[in-house]
Amino acid sequence: MLNLIIFGPQGAGKGTQAQLLAKEFNLEWIETGRLLREKAGDRTKLGEKIGRLQNQGVLVPDEIVAQIIEEKIKKVPKNKGIILDGYPRNIRQLESLEKILRETNRAKYKAIFVNVSKEVTLERLSGRKTCSKCGKIFSKTDLEVCDACGGKLIVREDDRPEAIEKRLEVYHKETEPMLRFYRKKGVLVEVNGEGPVEEVYRDIIKNLK
Ligand SMILES: [Zn+2]
Repeated sequence: MLNLIIFGPQGAGKGTQAQLLAKEFNLEWIETGRLLREKAGDRTKLGEKIGRLQNQGVLVPDEIVAQIIEEKIKKVPKNKGIILDGYPRNIRQLESLEKILRETNRAKYKAIFVNVSKEVTLERLSGRKTCSKCGKIFSKTDLEVCDACGGKLIVREDDRPEAIEKRLEVYHKETEPMLRFYRKKGVLVEVNGEGPVEEVYRDIIKNLK
């Protein structure tokens, strides 16, 4: 059974790769961001708490994310592999995940790092616009209005170069210890994420074998 963790900077295209891998190997794709959004919509105490935090723009605490990830993994049929996307994001989360994976008999896994240089990430993320009306995201567009709803396109505060650069800095600081851990454990698969989607994908497959 194949269990995968995929990580990399924002804009590395890891979601796309996760989707392709999930299809190829029949894996349960566990996309943390989406999972949290779904939970936030639940009419449970936990759902309401997550919704409240997200509305305040506060990160959901590690313990809660770990709990949700664990619940989700436990629901996956035992003979079906998983691919974790968007978790873990730091060494604390990684340690919680190690425990969860052991307890769910998924201790054997590979961690795929889709590496993209800071310059390319900045290039890929800058120029991103968001529809002020429906929220649709446009990467690199000359459009001024949304092609779906006609709303005005804006550059979010988050997508300004200074903000992106700051986020990347935090990202690298958090990722380094994870890379060291997975490398030392001998489960790290590192690929260059700067080429076309198909090329990155082929590279991953080659390295998994
Ligand atoms: Zn729109």
